[in-house]
Amino acid sequence: GDLPEAAVVENMMQQTYELHVDLSEGTVASYIPKLAEADPGWFGLTLASATGSRFSSGDSQQEFSIQSIAKAFVYALVCDAVGHDEVRERIGVNNTGLPFNSVMAIELNEGHTMNPMVNAGALTTTSLVSGSTWEEKWEFILQGLSAFAGRDLELDEGVYASEMETNMRNLSIARLLQSYGHITVDPARVIELYTRQCSLRVTTEDLAIMGATLANGGVHPITGTQVVGADVSRDVLSVMASTGMYEASGDWLFEIGMPGKSGVAGGIVTIAPGKGSLATFSPPLDAAGNSVRGVHATRHLSHKLGLNLFSST
Ligand code: GLN
Repeated sequence: GDLPEAAVVENMMQQTYELHVDLSEGTVASYIPKLAEADPGWFGLTLASATGSRFSSGDSQQEFSIQSIAKAFVYALVCDAVGHDEVRERIGVNNTGLPFNSVMAIELNEGHTMNPMVNAGALTTTSLVSGSTWEEKWEFILQGLSAFAGRDLELDEGVYASEMETNMRNLSIARLLQSYGHITVDPARVIELYTRQCSLRVTTEDLAIMGATLANGGVHPITGTQVVGADVSRDVLSVMASTGMYEASGDWLFEIGMPGKSGVAGGIVTIAPGKGSLATFSPPLDAAGNSVRGVHATRHLSHKLGLNLFSST
């Protein structure tokens, strides 16, 4: 079935905000120093239908850095350019069962990155972006993510500088992948491209519409642009379902029953194929790096709106 009628959804968004705004668990990320400046009270929600209607509550206009959520969309763009078989072989689609920035996950798998939703796989994905110069590669990513959003996204220079200064671990991961022959271009430039994509500023209104584009077979619900193919959208949603919430992906799928992707700034995007997408933003994170209010609020709405993909009713 479809989403309930507009007035019902609107009410539910407000109710979901009120039910979860007082949750006080979780910790704001601080390993990227700039992220620690976020207000732990921020909480925004937007549901976008596959036809482009948007329903929001709370801080849905507050900008934040997209962080790991960019992984899903850059992967989509690379899949579209490179093809199903090649990304499966070069990046993989299995959950690592380990944290998003694990080095062990690479070592345990003899250099295979396992999936595009953790840093190793995202760095390999980013190294596959086409373009004859690094500027062209960045333009490809920026234009592609902006096409998903339907507006020109901008870099948060403060977040970018802050992460570049503290990026030793990601640089090590990129060098390790280079040693295994998985990254065949300059790892330092791959890190720049990756950190830039993570530093793009979005609101939940942007994220929900980006997700709705994937829910809608790769066609942006408002601009009508075919951003990626329908098969690519489907493939991205599959890998998000098994790996998008890192080592907590099984818990997430069990409770929510939809593909989702989180980022350490506190954003989460969840996709209901054919129906739309829910985006949440709240900075305090759980141990896996997923937004606490975001996980609870998404679970609530999944139940209330009947969005669990495995439910037969
Ligand atoms: N830029 C962040 C990093 O690489 C993204 C991580 C995340 O959102 N989980 O550490």
